[in-house]
Amino acid sequence: MKKLLFFLALTLIISEVTYGQAVRDLGTDSAHFQIPDIPGYHTLKCDFHMHTVFSDGVVWPHIRVDEAIAEGLDVISITDHVEYHKKEVEDNNMLAYEIAKKHAEGKDLILILGGEISASRDHFNALFLKDPNEPTLRDKLPATRIAAAYEQEAFIFWNHPGWTNKYKDGNSPRDEDFIKLIKAGQIKGIEICNGGGYWEGAHELVQEFNLTLLGNSDIHGVSTYQFQPENHRTITLVFAREKSVEGVQEALLNHKTAIYQGDHLIGSEDLLKPLFFESLDIETKYREGTSLATMTIANNSDFDFICENNGPFKFYNGIDFFTLKAHTKTTIVVKTLEQLSGFSLDLLVHNALVGPGKSMELTIPVEVLLLP
Ligand code: ZN
Repeated sequence: MKKLLFFLALTLIISEVTYGQAVRDLGTDSAHFQIPDIPGYHTLKCDFHMHTVFSDGVVWPHIRVDEAIAEGLDVISITDHVEYHKKEVEDNNMLAYEIAKKHAEGKDLILILGGEISASRDHFNALFLKDPNEPTLRDKLPATRIAAAYEQEAFIFWNHPGWTNKYKDGNSPRDEDFIKLIKAGQIKGIEICNGGGYWEGAHELVQEFNLTLLGNSDIHGVSTYQFQPENHRTITLVFAREKSVEGVQEALLNHKTAIYQGDHLIGSEDLLKPLFFESLDIETKYREGTSLATMTIANNSDFDFICENNGPFKFYNGIDFFTLKAHTKTTIVVKTLEQLSGFSLDLLVHNALVGPGKSMELTIPVEVLLLP
């Protein structure tokens, strides 16, 4: 037994020295999104774009509720096309919401009444609608439809703005008609991510006009056939003061959103930085008799952070590139040249996008547990 323990200890030491960054799996329930809150806000996992049999989706509204709960979502909006329904179902834009609402009773899921207004080339989602059956929502002119939703005090966002069915180069257009509606305050957000698509042109508009950025699944089929556990749906993270319909509405109006799509996060620095720090527990101490600061970084979130060391200190156990893997402990050994009570680590987090083509830069203040 003693021999075995010695062997295990030796293996651990060797693996730490041999490989760039030693990693240990913390284990997780991978079916649910595990994303931390940030100071002062609940981080709500939301999908504001999905379809059922009441337009061109293939599932009954119950399934959207069950899928959301199974994946650990906090908020959904069923956004069936308001001007299109399958002939087998009744032409009533309230039904999907009402069925889902009844099914979600007593469950921990917020439902928002919404619809997709899509009678022309460009599509828009309207959330918090009061009457999705109002005939003007089906008008031929986008501006008239948007005005009708705006009349109902809906939160309106432009969907998949570079959708390849309509825009063959896959780029989102800088459409002057829509920019007018943005300036008039009628369009308040853009889905810069839809499923696997991302549009940098739309991201530029978000920054230029201070819009709310959103990322949604636009799911038509069955979630488990397409997603999770290894491949999650694209979601909007909403940072809300309270977990309620009003809390979500307030956060959307105040641009308190980020996107989690594939391996990356998209959002403003003031939201992504706290999300990064709340995901991690860091413990640092010097290896006895050396000036090698050993940082053990536990990442308790679902995010893999792909990092690059941008600071003056080099690593003893690897080059400047490393990944803080989700639900894993990573060890970094920093050569601080002398024992310090604290130092800072400057990082570039490649897969956290704070603007079009711009990764997040940050500084981790490191406190060291000095040996007596
Ligand atoms: Zn859609």
